[in-house]
Parts: sequence; structure tokens; C-alpha cells
Amino acid sequence: TERSLVLIKPDGFARGLTGEVLARIERKGYRLAAVQILTPTREALAEHYAEHVGKPFYEPLVDFMSSGPVTAVVIEGERCIEGFRSLAGTTDPTKAAPGSIRGDFGRDWGKAVQENIVHGSDSPESAAREIAIWFPGLA
Ligand code: ATP
Repeated sequence: TERSLVLIKPDGFARGLTGEVLARIERKGYRLAAVQILTPTREALAEHYAEHVGKPFYEPLVDFMSSGPVTAVVIEGERCIEGFRSLAGTTDPTKAAPGSIRGDFGRDWGKAVQENIVHGSDSPESAAREIAIWFPGLA
């Protein structure tokens, strides 16, 4: 079965949405393989967001993501990468469909970075890469 790396971002953590997000993952039928609360270092974020280095929203994104605790989660289940992205909704929380995590809880705050509650891996390759960053001990 497939694994995906989910992050409940600082906005989701601060707003008390961690349990809500974990509950939606579990109700969907995915298993929680690992869960950890931590405040990300800029170094870990540079690895995680390697594809965005140099983009206009990169520095604000790293400032935001290192501003407080996040919950890192490894989820497990058949096609859970695609499935979690569907649960999360599209990146822009204003456009995300109601019923999705971003659609139900996210909105535009007029900031340089979209504070959109969660991250989910977008491919098996990124999932493997991201799990190794956030859970180096996990097989
Ligand atoms: P995530 O990777 O967090 O699941 P995503 O895959 O939908 O989101 P990416 O394109 O990988 O989005 O961007 C990573 C994050 O950077 C987004 O979740 C958002 O917080 C921020 N971001 C992306 N694009 C923009 C943008 N155009 N303006 C502001 N912030 C952005």
C-alpha cells in the first residue's frame, strides 16, 4: 500500500484543527503510520520545498512554516497520495471546494503566502523524499 506525507501547517495547528484533520484522514479509511509535532527548521523546509527555492513566495513560505508547531503525519492506504490531495482541496483556499479541508477551513488572509492548513505529497517520489526528511528513522 501507498504512503503519503501530510503536514498540518502552523495555521492549522494554531487554530486547533489537528484533531479535525486527523479525524478526516481516519474516517476516509487511511491509517496513521507516524505522527510527530515539531517546529520546522529553515533547513528542513529548504529540503521539503526544494522545488520552490527562488520563487517569490519562497521566503514568506519558509517564514510562515517555521513560525510555530506543525504536525507531521505519515498516512497509509491504497492511493492515499491522490486521496489525501482530494481531501485537502486545491491549493488556493478561496477556490477549494466546500467539503475539502481547505474549502471548509481555509480562506485568503491577504498575505504573501497561502495559509492553507495542510500539505500532502503529490507523487510517490515526493512522498518517499518527504517521509525521509520528516521521519528519517522510518523504514
Ligand atoms: P502543498 O505542497 O502545501 O500540499 P500544493 O502542492 O497545493 O500545496 P505547492 O505548489 O507545492 O502547492 O506550493 C506549496 C505551498 O506554497 C502552498 O501550499 C502554499 O502554502 C504556498 N504557495 C504556493 N503557490 C503560492 C502562490 N502562488 N502564492 C502564495 N503562496 C503559494
